Amino acid sequence: MTSSSTKTYGLIGYPVKHSLSPLMHNAAFSHLKMDAEYRLFEVKAQELGDFVGSLSQKNISGLNVTIPHKEKVIPLLDSISEEAKLIGAVNTIKVSDNRLEGFNTDGEGFLKHLTADLGFEAQGKDICIIGAGGASKAVSVYLSRAKPGSISFYDIDKSKSSELVDHLKENFKNVEFRISDSVEGLNIKDCSLLVNATPIGMKEADPCIVEQDLLHKDILVYDLVYNPGETKLLKIAKSKGAKVSNGLGMLLYQGAIAFQIWTGKTAPIEVMRGALEEGARSL
Ligand code: NAP
Repeated sequence: MTSSSTKTYGLIGYPVKHSLSPLMHNAAFSHLKMDAEYRLFEVKAQELGDFVGSLSQKNISGLNVTIPHKEKVIPLLDSISEEAKLIGAVNTIKVSDNRLEGFNTDGEGFLKHLTADLGFEAQGKDICIIGAGGASKAVSVYLSRAKPGSISFYDIDKSKSSELVDHLKENFKNVEFRISDSVEGLNIKDCSLLVNATPIGMKEADPCIVEQDLLHKDILVYDLVYNPGETKLLKIAKSKGAKVSNGLGMLLYQGAIAFQIWTGKTAPIEVMRGALEEGARSL
């Protein structure tokens, strides 16, 4: 039950109705006996300015931000963190004293899952990333901080990988960055980590983004997609003996970090993980 003292948090994006975020945040609020709720706000591009401009009046204490607003929201905020600046996108907003602060927890969430749960240390490793959009930016900034040997990118739109690589080269002088014209050109055979940062795999009719022959048993294949839980890419990677992960762990940790930013409390990770996994099973 909510009252006038209930703190409201939520997700803005379009569309958002299939999001699993309310499950994990509401489970956390309930576990910690907090008078708070997490809601979904479908906000179209043309409504963003009005919505963000009235957060304090709406009594909203914090938001997650998803497609298509992660970049467009930046000029509407009072300040953004160094990480969000480097990534060029915001996925978390904290509202305090009528001030709007922007953060990006996607990259940190990804790296936390990669190291804490999957035991992968990026230092000195060769990494391939397919896709150079918003999620790829967040992931590659955090991977770059972990000092890999190299990161190679392929995006269907070469101008996006070029732009991202130029940006990363300026900020991470000790990492080698490469651009490929094709998945085949990525040199996956020599890589320890392959990340799918495209939406390919979400739809049943999607092709498998990588040919089976390119995969091997000594690689970790991380698909940012979590619905379905096992994409065609993960299926063929598993059949090659590779270690695999979908994007549910990244979703969990980016949410946990956002929770801590909003509330100042340690996120009950296992409660949030349980709620997410249960939600994912019924997708
Ligand atoms: P995005 O900004 O649209 O970026 C995707 C990029 O992949 C675009 O540059 C796109 O090019 C490119 N692309 C599309 N098809 C391709 C193909 N066949 N080969 C190579 N490149 C291709 O999307 P995003 O926000 O980065 O999200 C990417 C995926 O990550 C989505 O599935 C999203 O749900 C997932 N994600 C997961 C989490 C998590 O917590 N697990 C967090 C964020 C995002 P075009 O624009 O030209 O199509």
